[in-house]
Amino acid sequence: MFKFLNKKECPQRSPKTWTKKSVPNVQIEKTEKEVKVLDLTNDIIVHKKIDGTEFLQFRKLLEFPNVKHCYTLRKNHINVQIKGQDKTDLIDSYKKIAKALEIDYHNIIKPHQTHTDRVEIVNRPEEVWDEVDGMITNQRNIFLCTTSADCTSLFFYDDKKKVVGDVHSGWKGTLQQIGKKAVEKMKKEFDCHPEDIICCIGPCIQKCHFEVEEDVMKLFEKEFTYTGRIQEIIERGRKVEEKQKYNIDTTLINKLILQEAGLVPENIMDSGICTVCHSDLFHSYRVDKEQSGRNGAFIGMIL
Ligand SMILES: [Zn+2]
Repeated sequence: MFKFLNKKECPQRSPKTWTKKSVPNVQIEKTEKEVKVLDLTNDIIVHKKIDGTEFLQFRKLLEFPNVKHCYTLRKNHINVQIKGQDKTDLIDSYKKIAKALEIDYHNIIKPHQTHTDRVEIVNRPEEVWDEVDGMITNQRNIFLCTTSADCTSLFFYDDKKKVVGDVHSGWKGTLQQIGKKAVEKMKKEFDCHPEDIICCIGPCIQKCHFEVEEDVMKLFEKEFTYTGRIQEIIERGRKVEEKQKYNIDTTLINKLILQEAGLVPENIMDSGICTVCHSDLFHSYRVDKEQSGRNGAFIGMIL
């Protein structure tokens, strides 16, 4: 159904190759484990490998030693959601990630996500959340996990109020502005000031590959024309069998709605990585369809 652009055609920032020594401002944790810095590393994120498990971390969040976080890659059989199978591989993936982050995998909480705009406060890791796509906590040793394959993951942190948030913002969630709703909830429940909140935008399907037809394009046009940036958000793409396609920039939308919620641009960090361009490294629904696994966005506080 979809034809993908070649990697060459993708206008996204090309990954640089860094050596461990040349990575600027990266705090590589002093640990007995072997830590490798790999090729998706850029000025916003660090690509690491610990004990065979590969993941990304945001430089901005690494500034806070009390925060544990990562965005997983599909390497080393990491798949945080497998449909129709037993949970052995899922638990296995959690264990590998927990080991790499030095956290207890029993304290990971993952909601059943259904592309809603519902954001809830989590107080205990054993809570069960159904039809929830965003979680917030001010508790220590609770590690929030949302999963995705091309959808956007938003990592939130307020260092003043010591609050973390984790949001799954697929295109439907983005249309419903779930990112903004998470900020509103942080303000209401924990008295967070938006200018203190950091939001890191994980790898997701970028404008280069998020191609839709007129019906979906119209939904975005209706919702976001008010931003005054609709020409950048929606780009007229190719024609396939007489049908006009459109490319949508959901990352830009998320940046705009987060700023509207009061976040300052310097506190919005975008990984700039497209999961379809790098489907060898990430699970991608557009590429693998129903066979697709899921990438995990984890965040929590230990202190
Ligand atoms: Zn792409």
